[in-house]
Amino acid sequence: MRCPYCGFTDSRVVDSRLNELGDVTRRRRECLNCGRRFTTFEKVDEIPLTVIKKNGEREPFSRNKLLDGILRALVKRQVSRERAEQIVDEIEASLRNDFKREVTSKELGEMVLRQLRDIDKVAYIRFASVYREFKDLEEFTQELKKLK
Ligand SMILES: [Zn+2]
Repeated sequence: MRCPYCGFTDSRVVDSRLNELGDVTRRRRECLNCGRRFTTFEKVDEIPLTVIKKNGEREPFSRNKLLDGILRALVKRQVSRERAEQIVDEIEASLRNDFKREVTSKELGEMVLRQLRDIDKVAYIRFASVYREFKDLEEFTQELKKLK
């Protein structure tokens, strides 16, 4: 990133944050030559985020896929699609903020569950049963108990 004041090409990042939509990273940089500060904006979709599935396969992170999973858990619940999209936004922003390049599907699932737990208990259990693949009724019951 070239310094707009002196043209030097090396700078250090002093601050880094996402915009509200979570798709643009704003970076405050300090030129290593003249010490002046400038701001750059980088579209985060330039940094691919990869999801590592349980079987070890990798696939690009897909907002739609994540949203679909959440909407499926929310069928006939009193939670709007906007709220579901907000969950996806928050998760993506949090991953982008940590500058993650890879995330396991398990981590993703747990992130969704943390949000659903506070929003809708039924959706939480539905989502958990898909993501955690409860082996038996016992495990499922344990999860229900934790909610109480
Ligand atoms: Zn400079």
